Amino acid sequence: MNYGEIKNCDIANGTGIRISLFVSGCTNHCKNCFQPQTWDFNFGEPFTRDIEEKILKMLEPDYIDGLTVLGGEPMEPSNQQALYPFLLKVKEKMPNKTIWVFSGFTLEEMREEGGYSNCDVTEKILGMIDVLVDGRFVEELKDITLKFRGSSNQRLIDMKKTNEQGCIVLWDN
Ligand code: SF4
Repeated sequence: MNYGEIKNCDIANGTGIRISLFVSGCTNHCKNCFQPQTWDFNFGEPFTRDIEEKILKMLEPDYIDGLTVLGGEPMEPSNQQALYPFLLKVKEKMPNKTIWVFSGFTLEEMREEGGYSNCDVTEKILGMIDVLVDGRFVEELKDITLKFRGSSNQRLIDMKKTNEQGCIVLWDN
């Protein structure tokens, strides 16, 4: 997996002050995507062990609320394979930090057996996420007043409650 950018002290992509990792590669190709350069899986730099360690260090301060992963498309199957062991480390070392993931795939698509975005680690990743922002960007539903999303079809899903209750529970700040 490659990544395009790491943002320190990001306040735009989730609650509180966060570290944001922008991974490369996206097959969704939404019309008028604001970062089409990230569609290329080779965009940016390789996500190495050193980069993992760097992010883990950046997450350590108490004022950092957690990690946000966006892209590109974190839930591309090949990106899931790289992210799963890394997210596991984050959770093991810092269980109190929250994890937000922005994906163009819907939760239903990710959970569809045999679906493109469903692979052997999908459910494990979904079990570690606190908030999933799901759905493709739809130009016709663009709404700049929405918090943490670009179009009104996209949802902020409380994954802990969703997994507990077995039905989609939207995140409520
Ligand atoms: S899912 Fe995100 S990165 Fe991919 S095309 Fe849509 S808006 Fe762009």
